[in-house]
Amino acid sequence: MKCSKDGEFTKGEISPFGNIQLSPSAGVLNYGQAIYEGTKAYRKENGKLLLFRPDHNAMRMKIGAERMLMPSPSVDQFVDAVKQIAFANKRWVPPSGKGSLYIRPLLMGSGPVLGLGPAPEYTFIVYASPVGNYFKEGTAALNLYVEDEYVRAAPGGAGGVKSITNYAPVLKALSRAKSRGFSDVLYLDSVKKKYLEEASSCNVFVVKGRTISTPATNGTILEGITRKSVMEIANDQGYQVVEKAVHVDDVMDADEVFCTGTAVVVAPVGTITYQNKRVEYKTGDESVCKKLRSVLVGIQTGQIEDTKGWVTDIN
Ligand code: PMP
Repeated sequence: MKCSKDGEFTKGEISPFGNIQLSPSAGVLNYGQAIYEGTKAYRKENGKLLLFRPDHNAMRMKIGAERMLMPSPSVDQFVDAVKQIAFANKRWVPPSGKGSLYIRPLLMGSGPVLGLGPAPEYTFIVYASPVGNYFKEGTAALNLYVEDEYVRAAPGGAGGVKSITNYAPVLKALSRAKSRGFSDVLYLDSVKKKYLEEASSCNVFVVKGRTISTPATNGTILEGITRKSVMEIANDQGYQVVEKAVHVDDVMDADEVFCTGTAVVVAPVGTITYQNKRVEYKTGDESVCKKLRSVLVGIQTGQIEDTKGWVTDIN
């Protein structure tokens, strides 16, 4: 779909995956004016396909677009495009329990712009790929490294939206952590470097007794759709769920830590290393993480009845 600045998005078309043409002076290439989303289609045991809360991705894209001074497709246009791409790729959706179809909506400033300013034209593209587990650890526990040199986002920046400009700057810290054998990086706040933010592509939860804490969304972390869903499931199960500033010392003192995201779903954390101190956490069948994961995955794949209106059947 295309749109001129402040204009309406035209009706899109489905075409085979391939290269696109852009001006060398496209806003996205020069000034990073683009935001994206990530959602998944799951196959039910009866073969039908389900989407998980695509309207929330649409609403998050709208908020992100406003922050990056871009027009955005309406919620209906967004959801309709995601449904069409999932349907057109239905033969690529893995069997139930064997993976999912990852769907990537991308909104970019595609028109040419030389001096710093918003692009005169925008393009909205949705593409898809079958995926399995995000981490090489599969569903096994992750080993995280608390990064205290690089930060992911600063107050007033774009850390709270899914701007493409948030991702390249984390690659250095991520590749350094990976080369030392860690699965991912945990970022701290940019001001005091003492409060937990999130990992490179997922939100973080800390469990102590029956209390589950997660960093409050204050503009520097992404308000994950999985995060919101897991908080609701945990509340339903009688846990006390708290959004607050989570001090790194409390993370090191927790019973359990887990990550949430469209890609990682709900992933247990086995160890965290912070300034040469390494802490091990409870994982396994009795963990809170496992219980929350099984409810979420059950709803996403249609094995647990969706009483919340979270899944959309696209057949
Ligand atoms: N934080 C970041 C930085 C992310 O890129 C993602 C993935 N979208 C998340 C958190 C998790 O968000 P969601 O649950 O909506 O996928």
